[in-house]
Parts: sequence; C-alpha cells; structure tokens
Amino acid sequence: MYEEEKKHVIETGIKLHEYKLISLSGGNVSLRIEDHVLVTPSGMMYEDLVPDDIVVLDLHGNIIEGERRPSVDSIAILHILNHMPEVRAVIHTHQVYATAVGLFSDTLPAVVTTLVNATLGPVSVAPFSSAASLDMGVAAVEYLNGKRAVILKQHGIITIGGNLKEALYAAVYMEDAAKTYCVARSIRAVPELTPSQIQDAVDSFMNYGQITQPKK
Ligand code: 13P
Ligand code: ZN
Repeated sequence: MYEEEKKHVIETGIKLHEYKLISLSGGNVSLRIEDHVLVTPSGMMYEDLVPDDIVVLDLHGNIIEGERRPSVDSIAILHILNHMPEVRAVIHTHQVYATAVGLFSDTLPAVVTTLVNATLGPVSVAPFSSAASLDMGVAAVEYLNGKRAVILKQHGIITIGGNLKEALYAAVYMEDAAKTYCVARSIRAVPELTPSQIQDAVDSFMNYGQITQPKK
C-alpha cells in the first residue's frame, strides 16, 4: 500500500538530515493520502528506513498498515490534518536556528525573501508544547496564521504544505533565514521586508522550478 509515497516520505526525512535540520531520530514526516496518513515510525533513523517501516494511520489514529509504533507526535499531526483540510504534508524538526529564535522572540520576522518564498511570510512562535502532546497540534493550528511554518517555543518547528516539497522547502529555507537573522541581529537591529516586498516574494515563488511533465 502506497509504496511510492512511502519512499517519498523516507527521502524527505533523509533530506532533513542532509540539511542538518534533525539529529539522530528527531522530528518526523507525515503525508495525508485521502483518509489515510503515512507517518514515520517513532525513534528510528531516517537513513535506516524502508517503506514497510512507514505506518499508515486513519484520521482517528487507528493503524491501517505497519508493524512499527508510529511517531509519538501522531496525535498532534492528526489534529493538524483534521483541522486543516488543505494540508497534505507535515514536517516536524528541532532545527537549531529557528528554534533559537523562539527562545528570544515571538516571531521570526520576514527579513529575507527566501523565508517568505517558502513560508509565505513571518513565522509565529507558539507557546511551549512538549513532544507527544496534543498541545503541539493545537498550537500549530492556532499559530500557523496562514503560513507554512510555526515555531514551537522550547521544542522545535512544524511546517506544512500541499505536498512534501512545500513542507520541506519551508523547513529548509526557514532555517537559512533564521540563521541569517540570528547572525545579523547579533550585530545590530535588522530591517524587515515591506508588505509589498513580501507579496512580491510570495508571488515570485509560485512558478519557481520545473513544471512536472506528464509521463509518456
Ligand atoms: P518520534 O521519533 O516519535 O517522531 O519523535 C520525535 C520528536 O521530535 C518528538 O517531538
Ligand atoms: Zn519534537
């Protein structure tokens, strides 16, 4: 069941590792397919995963397929998917710079275009929520504010998308932006993009990359 999509979930997890957004088995990747959700197993290294390790849940959290224990954050992931029907992909990481911003600020401001390209605007910081809690999902739904990312204070981040690529770009570009922000801010106050610059950055990324050609 869902062999290709399971491989895509694993590849996304490996990318998170390659871009240094997770350490060891931290974080998780989920993908909704109609009434089912593919979730990475709890506490396993992404590079060791095979498609059979990905757990298929229904939207109530019942296991439809798989022998592994699903991510401890499944309760939060399902809350997001059940409250945001447009979301298909959810990524959670403990990426260092974006998480650091959440320790001293209520927002990662829109200071560079790449952040806005991928997250659609400034990223809000939600109050603390622990791993394995419903609160994580409640906080995400409340603080996403129409963006593709939210920072979970003293824990990590969640990104969302209509597909895995959108959620992955949001996580990777947010980390680059957070790093740039932390470095620049340590020297002096930094300027933010204007609303029209933010809109231009959102629009310019709508047609970014290659248009997928239908397979012959
Ligand atoms: P899982 O390995 O169970 O997904 O937990 C990782 C995590 O980040 C908990 O918040
Ligand atoms: Zn976590």
